[in-house]
Amino acid sequence: MIDIARNLEIVESKIRAACDKSGRRFADVKLVAVSKTQSSERISQLAELGVVDFGENRVQELLEKRPQISHDITWHMIGHLQTNKVKSIIDKVALIHSVDSLRLAKEIDKQAKLVEKTMEILVEINIAGEESKHGIEPGELSEFLTEVATYKNIVVKGLMCLAPYVENPEENRVYFRKMRQMFVDNKSLSANNISMEHLSMGMTNDYEVAIEEGASIVRVGTGIFGAR
Ligand SMILES: *Cc1c(COP(=O)(O)O)cnc(C)c1O
Repeated sequence: MIDIARNLEIVESKIRAACDKSGRRFADVKLVAVSKTQSSERISQLAELGVVDFGENRVQELLEKRPQISHDITWHMIGHLQTNKVKSIIDKVALIHSVDSLRLAKEIDKQAKLVEKTMEILVEINIAGEESKHGIEPGELSEFLTEVATYKNIVVKGLMCLAPYVENPEENRVYFRKMRQMFVDNKSLSANNISMEHLSMGMTNDYEVAIEEGASIVRVGTGIFGAR
């Protein structure tokens, strides 16, 4: 039996240690518990321990579990999102981390307008240029932001990446550092709807390194819930 309370304590203490090591404040790093494949009971159990932010990577799964949980949860869409599914989650998630094309951004803008909200999004960057990963190329970011700046019902809150799977998390430091640089380079953009506040990077295997390099959101699944 996996002790999620104990796991949560461990993850939080590691986040704290990574913050201490890099002179950052614990309060400035948000933990998103990645609950994909986990039952609504497990999610409720974690919510009971005070976790508020949960991330799902599949629309269908999010739609199924969401109504089964009575706690006040902030949902994050963290997986690849098809344009035809935007409509079904637009009013159900607080932040979409995985915006990886203008076509998707445009659809989010359209659907957000229909429900009269402003949707907060992160732009996913394929930071290591991996074939298997989604996200825009680093060199495409400026152009992407220039276009998105004209969309009235979305606000860009920052950047997100999925680093490569590596044995030694130190190998990903270079990618997290590049993400941080892109984040800083675009922070002063003057568009009304671009407000770079978040860097969503780091998973169970590498969140400590990600925090040392400036992550403000870490997405941790296995580290809390155990192996999927
Ligand atoms: C599954 C997933 C995570 C969490 O992965 P773990 O290794 O279990 O912590 C984070 N981000 C995304 C986008 C995911 O799909």
